[in-house]
Amino acid sequence: MSNAKAQVLIVEDEPEIAELIEFHAERAGMQARKVHSGRIALDVIKREKPDLIVLDLMLPDLDGLEVCRKLKQSEDTRTIPIVMVTAKGEEADVVAGIELGADDYVTKPFSPRVLMARLRNVLRRAGIADEPAPTTDRMVLLDGKLIIDLDRHEVMCEGRKTDLTLTEFGILHYLASRPGFVRTRDQIISAVHGKSTVLSSRTVDVHITALRRKLGSMAECVETVRGVGYRFSEGTRDEE
Ligand code: CA
Repeated sequence: MSNAKAQVLIVEDEPEIAELIEFHAERAGMQARKVHSGRIALDVIKREKPDLIVLDLMLPDLDGLEVCRKLKQSEDTRTIPIVMVTAKGEEADVVAGIELGADDYVTKPFSPRVLMARLRNVLRRAGIADEPAPTTDRMVLLDGKLIIDLDRHEVMCEGRKTDLTLTEFGILHYLASRPGFVRTRDQIISAVHGKSTVLSSRTVDVHITALRRKLGSMAECVETVRGVGYRFSEGTRDEE
């Protein structure tokens, strides 16, 4: 990213919430603009190509998921990161949004500090590779406490070789390829599909439990995101 201010588009029909987000985004050094409808958002995004979109899911005309779907279908807009804003009880929509390609979400009422941390993370990562395929054969994580060796199919946990099954290895590798990003069970299933036995949503949980047990003191890096899925945590994330 250059030194220019990051352009953030806030798509939110509730004026107080939109203003709250705008206020904090500008205080954090971003340049914010707000729109109150999904249709206007699509027009503005096509024209202005913001660096980041904060997208409320409940909008009066075109709902947030539809906006997300349209943005991800278009070559011009598919790489613009999206942070969804959701209400409590909309976990199914969060899952749908993440599977459509949204990057992260916050749940109302959210703390501005948490929202800004997520926006900054997403902006920071937007400058990094978009695809989870790593270019090196070794992933060094958590200050070297966790090393994933893709060539030898080995995981070192605090210097100790840890035997994982193919599925466990696949899940860990997939989550660790984009730390901090939530992955749904279905995304995990398709990522490791073909590399092992057939997976179902429930068996993902079973494999995760086994994986954590083998990771021992590093187990917390595989974090449960209630109602949504899992993510690899580097332990620096602000929590709600
Ligand atoms: Ca709304």
